[in-house]
Amino acid sequence: MKITFWGAVGTVTGSMHEVRIGGTTFLLDCGLYQGHRKEAHERNSTFPFRPDGIDSVVLSHAHIDHSGNLPTLVKDGFHGPIYATPATADLCVPMLRDSAHIQEKDAEFVTKRFHRRRSLDPAAKDGGLPPLYTAADAEAAIALFHQVPMGTEQELGPGAAYHAIDAGHMLGSSVVIVTERVNGKELRLGFSGDLGRPGLPIIRDPAPLEEVDWLILESTYGGRLHKDDEVVINKLANLVNRTCARGGKIIVPAFAVGRTQQLVLVLHELFDSGRIPNIPIFVDSPLAIETTEVFRKHAELYDEEANQFRVKGEDPFGFKRLRYIRDVNESKALNDLRGPFIVISASGMCEAGRILHHLRNNIENPRNTILITGYQAENTLGRKLVDKLPEVSIFGEPMRVRAEVETINELSGHADQREILEWIKPVAAKLKRIFLVHGEPSQSAALAQAIQERYGTTPVLPTRGQSFDLN
Ligand SMILES: [Zn+2]
Repeated sequence: MKITFWGAVGTVTGSMHEVRIGGTTFLLDCGLYQGHRKEAHERNSTFPFRPDGIDSVVLSHAHIDHSGNLPTLVKDGFHGPIYATPATADLCVPMLRDSAHIQEKDAEFVTKRFHRRRSLDPAAKDGGLPPLYTAADAEAAIALFHQVPMGTEQELGPGAAYHAIDAGHMLGSSVVIVTERVNGKELRLGFSGDLGRPGLPIIRDPAPLEEVDWLILESTYGGRLHKDDEVVINKLANLVNRTCARGGKIIVPAFAVGRTQQLVLVLHELFDSGRIPNIPIFVDSPLAIETTEVFRKHAELYDEEANQFRVKGEDPFGFKRLRYIRDVNESKALNDLRGPFIVISASGMCEAGRILHHLRNNIENPRNTILITGYQAENTLGRKLVDKLPEVSIFGEPMRVRAEVETINELSGHADQREILEWIKPVAAKLKRIFLVHGEPSQSAALAQAIQERYGTTPVLPTRGQSFDLN
């Protein structure tokens, strides 16, 4: 078995690893790289290998930084199967369509801006970029999905197979266990994908890690410890109450998939128990509406808490004070509505989508609160808010950050250092090697040190393009 690391090394986005077993080559994930526009476009539009030389893709979960570059791969010649759990495959339909729409809109916007600039200055350079992929490319990728239920072994080629176990990170998310069989011997590679944490709303806890020889392990929060659930829920309730007392609005940038549904469920429980006032909540994202439908469809994946709602005959994602907004005009009407109320809108890192309009309209008012609930990659607007920059640029205009900015990392769905250490504990002694990916260098380094101290193994922090022969 040979593995080459192409993405999510030294960073959290663009997850993509190439595995070769005998004559079979497949990818683990094919995610979108996010960061500076030009660099991201270059990275995403050019593959460091021939896409038509890849036999298949095994997808860990639907988040766009793991799945979002599949349409480019297909456009560039890949035509094999894309294996994913049924929920992941279902989620990828609206998500890849939405991503294509964003790519097309983005390219249109940049081109328009260029033409405007050129009308003032005929010598203006930079003609913009073509869309990374189109709606048609997304449909071509969607057509290649093959659903493989959790726990079912899927052959990838002679002597190569995989099965998925629950990662507990989002609906349908999986840890991938790759098996190589040679001369009656079995060798196994584990890929954590994004590892979740016990107690997350809606979904079940991560399944125990099976015995593997090598492990590719994420490290998003490898240097952090999350606070207890109780502390987190209190923090959320206090924040809502505080903002209500000021008559302000609560603006929540959230991934349309996973985080939005989890947040809705937690708020539902807080209303039911009378811990927060009965204020309106708007989920302002067409993608969130479509993916919520997928969440409703896959009730077989719910944990006990979400099932309670179903037992009582209630919809965990729809309650009286909640409204889903599809229409653009309705979204704009929220600007004129007086607070207090809550708006949950995408994108999660504030890089695109309707959230930008809500931020532009509310960020300069100290009555309002911006609640960050997910990991914010470097160089994104979301990260600048987390880092408490006094001024940020929205749609190219400088704006003063006068609203309160609060961060709740615990809802982000990634295990912290202690949880990662616990998860690998049963197999730690037998592991031949751990590769740390999906983390900024400081987080990966902190996790590497903790693993070394606790288990006596020194993990490898691969660099982009680095290959390893595993046998
Ligand atoms: Zn994820």
